[in-house]
Amino acid sequence: MAINLTLQNRCNQLCELCGKHDGNLNPYSVPPKGDDSPDNQVVLCVDCLEQINSANYSDTHHWRCLEGSIWSEVPSVQVLSYKILESLISEDWARDAREAVYLDESLVEWANAEDALEAEKVVHKDSYGVILESGDTVVLTQNLNVKGTNYSAPKGTIVRKIKLVQDNAEQVEGKINGDTIVILTKFIRKSV
Ligand SMILES: [Zn+2]
Repeated sequence: MAINLTLQNRCNQLCELCGKHDGNLNPYSVPPKGDDSPDNQVVLCVDCLEQINSANYSDTHHWRCLEGSIWSEVPSVQVLSYKILESLISEDWARDAREAVYLDESLVEWANAEDALEAEKVVHKDSYGVILESGDTVVLTQNLNVKGTNYSAPKGTIVRKIKLVQDNAEQVEGKINGDTIVILTKFIRKSV
């Protein structure tokens, strides 16, 4: 991918993490930012890029470069350095480097945002572990008493167009006999 002029001027043909002069530099958007605004990007050599893409930071000798890049004047470079230092935090030098620099609160938030997103993600799965989505059709895997009514829905009942309960991975909503009820995911099977 070509590097735009703003980034070219900023990085001076050097990898913004390890400082390597490389004819093949690549812009990298620091997650969770996905756009290609220079403010969200870091210019990386192939060495750095490959290790980041594979999340493999075992070459600690290489990553000692973060002791310098964490002091960068470019926020995105600081954020990326911080994130990688987090992955290396069991190394004394990495912990020292991360603690030595004061990062603006918004930058720390940026650095931690990806993990937070991951943790917040609620995934609904049916009784067989198949991922459910809103709009799916499911089948009841056992007889269910429908709360607040006097009927029970027999095993095998088909429920169309379920809705996921956003903050609870164990619940979906669906219509049975015209009533919208909450159904536990452990009692349903996705219909294909
Ligand atoms: Zn590099």
